Amino acid sequence: MNEPNQIPNWLMKRAYLTPDRPAIIFRNERLTFRQLFERAKTFAEKLHYTGVQKGDRVGVLLNNQLDTVVLLHSLQLLGCQTVLLNIRLQDEELLFQLEDSEAMILISNESLLIEHRKLQDVWIDRLITLEQLRKRAQRSVPVVEQFSMDELCTIMYTSGTTGHPKGVLQTYGNHWWSAAGSLLNLGLHEQDVWLCAVPLFHISGFSILVRSVLYGIPIRLYEKFDEKQINRVLISGKATIISVVTAMVQRLLHELGDRSYHPNFRCMLIGGGKVPLPLLKTCKEKGIPVFQTYGMTETASQIATLSPEHSLTKLGSAGKPLFFSEIKIIKERKWANSNEFGEIYVKGPNVTKGYWKREDANRENFTEDGWLKTGDIGYMDEEGFLYIIDRRTDLIISGGENIYPAEIEQVILTHPAVKEVAVVGISDKQWGEVPVAFYVVKEGVHVEEKTLDDLCRTHLAKYKVPKRWIRKDELPKNASNKILRRLLKKGTDPA
Ligand code: ATP
Ligand code: MG
Repeated sequence: MNEPNQIPNWLMKRAYLTPDRPAIIFRNERLTFRQLFERAKTFAEKLHYTGVQKGDRVGVLLNNQLDTVVLLHSLQLLGCQTVLLNIRLQDEELLFQLEDSEAMILISNESLLIEHRKLQDVWIDRLITLEQLRKRAQRSVPVVEQFSMDELCTIMYTSGTTGHPKGVLQTYGNHWWSAAGSLLNLGLHEQDVWLCAVPLFHISGFSILVRSVLYGIPIRLYEKFDEKQINRVLISGKATIISVVTAMVQRLLHELGDRSYHPNFRCMLIGGGKVPLPLLKTCKEKGIPVFQTYGMTETASQIATLSPEHSLTKLGSAGKPLFFSEIKIIKERKWANSNEFGEIYVKGPNVTKGYWKREDANRENFTEDGWLKTGDIGYMDEEGFLYIIDRRTDLIISGGENIYPAEIEQVILTHPAVKEVAVVGISDKQWGEVPVAFYVVKEGVHVEEKTLDDLCRTHLAKYKVPKRWIRKDELPKNASNKILRRLLKKGTDPA
């Protein structure tokens, strides 16, 4: 029996409970939970033969592949802590995360390493590829049968959108409570299949892996996001839930045209960044079951999600905090009234205990009574539904007025020629700061600055209308595909 504060090794227990249910579908391969467990055990024995031991911290630099899922489970069977690395990072960034996390070994694959020569050079003695691992001999090893809730399962670095990425400590308990909270909101249907085309090294993807073994449902895993392929699956009803970010939905909608999804497809979970209201409206008009969610690496994925019954009436909201979590809005150190903007604070068993080796950030971002200050601005309506406005660092203060770039961006994005836009504040002698719009137009189309300016003047107060329009071929983004406003700001001379 489990000690209090312990849970069974989730894959092992799942393989025992429902061994023949499908666990994972990738390309033409399918594994049941029993097969997944057996493969993970084999990998664990190969890792053990290689010298990897319980308690070791292991860096993983892998794309979405069947064996990535197997490996991640095998590290849990061995009792290792996994440092998940974003494959789109540059060598310097990877080296920082590997050294900062004090990883002892790095597991990657040959095709990824080709692009990371420097990393290979520095880590040559501490590097194993999956190709090598498959060929290794095995040494039997007792697997971890119980996870302690407080034990560290993963370290995942934040995206580094607002500054340098921070290593977030994620325990087994954090992942467990996150999956439980999601389940109590979305429910579980017998035919559920979760489509994962988001990276397993992000919390959005990793949390699907955890839910799959806890709920006993298969993951349909994709290496790349291909809208044609994903639409085909959703039209045929071979997946019932998908996790997406805004850019993916735009591509799916464009490719979908007049067709519609299968009635079994019940949830498109959208989050990870700004979700424009017009996009949500289009989804609703097309009968797509879209659910906005709010979360971050620090909350082990969702902390608030709109519930199915409110998805029509509260469009634009990220819902209420999930069953085990709490959210409050703080304005000038006090609880904000409903509809008043303030910083979003979060609390719950899914929230990290802190950042790895970042006492400064821990002191700054956590209150004494355990709330995490998210740095995001939002409000709650009178019924307690959360709306995300913007990041605190993106706020523009112009002549004493607060300007939220997201509000302006939403207006600009309604113009069909605009592909992407970012509004940032740049310093101004008279107003302190003024909004400036950086925009990218869709291929083969043209739009006059004046047209965009008129659009803003029609819908926004004068002080919110961008003072300059700067057309770009693309906007600078980080490895998580988030726009780096600080770089746009830096590269602009005062108006
Ligand atoms: P860093 O913390 O290093 O600056 P990051 O915050 O982008 O990077 P993540 O943990 O990947 O790192 O992203 C979480 C953030 O994404 C949230 O704090 C929030 O700003 C944004 N986000 C998530 N969901 C939503 C949403 N529904 N609407 C708007 N923003 C969202
Ligand atoms: Mg963050």
